[in-house]
Amino acid sequence: MKVLVTGGSGFIASHCLKTLLARDHTIVTTVRSAEKGEAILAAYPESSKGQLSYVVVPDIAQEGAFDHVVISDPPFDAVLHTASPFHFRFQDSKELLDPAIHGTKGILRAIKDNAPSVKRVVITSSFAAITSTDGHPDVYSESQWNPVTYKEGIEDRSKTYRASKTLAERAAWSFMEEEKPGFSLATLCPPWVFGPPIHVPESQAALNTSNAYFAMLIHGGWKEKLPPTGTWLWVDVRDIALAHVRAMEVPEAGGKRFFITAGHFDMKDVAEIAKMRVPEYADKLPTKLTSDKPNPLYGFDNGRSKEILQLEYLSLETSVVDTLKFLQSHDI
Ligand code: NDP
Repeated sequence: MKVLVTGGSGFIASHCLKTLLARDHTIVTTVRSAEKGEAILAAYPESSKGQLSYVVVPDIAQEGAFDHVVISDPPFDAVLHTASPFHFRFQDSKELLDPAIHGTKGILRAIKDNAPSVKRVVITSSFAAITSTDGHPDVYSESQWNPVTYKEGIEDRSKTYRASKTLAERAAWSFMEEEKPGFSLATLCPPWVFGPPIHVPESQAALNTSNAYFAMLIHGGWKEKLPPTGTWLWVDVRDIALAHVRAMEVPEAGGKRFFITAGHFDMKDVAEIAKMRVPEYADKLPTKLTSDKPNPLYGFDNGRSKEILQLEYLSLETSVVDTLKFLQSHDI
């Protein structure tokens, strides 16, 4: 298939590129600068055979940002829309809300109007679009929606990221309902995503948000106290990447939302694995480890992801060890 992947420089997207290439798909990815595009081409030898190329889209929040990008020869069969800000460094809430919401609406509009060959669109949503800060159900699944509003996203910094993901995904499903385009949509909702990055970040500060916790561990930031887990569910980046590709390839995935999680965890589990498997970091961790998992803790139902996307999730131990070793070997 010929696939457009937005945000190829991202942590999750870079694994999507790798998985797509391994399955012989041809890719065009969007990046914010030619410099980032060239770095991506250098990281994947397949680019020399024309299997991977890039186009520059500096800001997905801009109106019409994707209008020309979706036009390609030969034309695209599918689109994976992963680009969206995931950080908490913003001054103004709109720095998160606008790219998330306008970017999602913009790419769907561009595909409908300019790329009739596209049959499947996969959007990276988040567990942030499922979970609520106002209490938890007994079991989380695809059926729940975060009730957060745009107003809350604007006024309450602690809700801005969650609002950006929730409202972007809601906008996508509304678009499908109202516009009835010639493609089907699948959305993926992962919680914490861990795992070794593909692109080596220039510095600790350039590391993606979820893996920054692991760099903190290496640099002694967990010594006095483990960081709060906050969301006690996780998935490895290689599994969420495979989920994107299967959600694109499998016909039955169309029209569905997928909750992609390997299961429960907390930072104590991570610390125990680190102590046991990467013992050189034992002295960076508290002697006594305490869990912050609530009791009882909500359950999770990831059955749809196993049944339709055929996911077999990697273990937390594999993910933690691979991530720490990656950061260690690249001196991050
Ligand atoms: P990254 O920060 O590594 O990737 C985000 C990507 O989006 C980057 O390519 C970034 O470009 C691009 N981007 C952000 N804002 C804009 C913009 N205004 N215009 C153009 N491109 C933009 O994060 P992840 O890979 O972790 O996240 C990818 C997706 O997965 C996001 O939608 C995120 O919400 C979602 N997600 C991530 C989780 C995690 O734990 N990592 C958990 C759940 C969901 P650049 O690098 O140039 O800034």
